[in-house]
Amino acid sequence: MKYKKMQQADFTFLENLVGKENLKIKDQIEEDLAHDELKTVFAYPEVHIIVTDKFQIMKIMAYANKQLIPVTVRGSGTGLVGACVPLYGGILLDTTKMNKIIELDKTNLTLRVEPGVLLMEISEYVEKENLFYAPDPGEKSATIGGNIATNAGGMRAVNTE
Ligand SMILES: Cc1cc2nc3c(=O)[nH]c(=O)nc-3n(C[C@H](O)[C@H](O)[C@H](O)COP(=O)(O)OP(=O)(O)OC[C@H]3O[C@@H](n4cnc5c(N)ncnc54)[C@H](O)[C@@H]3O)c2cc1C
Repeated sequence: MKYKKMQQADFTFLENLVGKENLKIKDQIEEDLAHDELKTVFAYPEVHIIVTDKFQIMKIMAYANKQLIPVTVRGSGTGLVGACVPLYGGILLDTTKMNKIIELDKTNLTLRVEPGVLLMEISEYVEKENLFYAPDPGEKSATIGGNIATNAGGMRAVNTE
């Protein structure tokens, strides 16, 4: 697949969608965003976009698809295999500001959240309701989006009694 090199027109279109404060290019992009926790791979995106709602994501994905711009989603960047590193450049789509807990359905034991909610926030929230969130990868600052995408687990799900 040959991806397009991004142009000023692309940055302008995307900036109009998310606002100036949520779009960074070139030397505005932090070095931390070019690698994950383990730093085995390193690559900068052409643009770092912080999304705040699902409608922005829909529009960005439709645009990127049409323009052949690669998109890499990033949560907290605590992954260990380079999956959140934008190897092909393009858009780094950052979901960390989509961090609202929307609804706890206590009857069905289901929590509806945005993807950027942190695991530590989920645990704290449900424990106040006398409930327990079992998945427990070692890094509590990971987002639920990254957790689900990597199927990250941990020891708390195993009952040894
Ligand atoms: C100290 C430490 C301990 C750890 N312990 C464990 C462990 O015990 N078990 C375990 O399984 N893992 C563990 N991990 C790995 C890591 O914490 C998990 O993979 C974590 O769930 C990744 O979440 P993140 O928000 O940091 O995602 P990122 O690292 O930002 O992204 C990881 C992947 O998820 C994708 N992604 C992120 N958000 C979204 C989204 N909203 N929609 C779609 N895709 C998305 C990214 O594109 C990328 O492919 C550990 C990491 C560290 C640093």
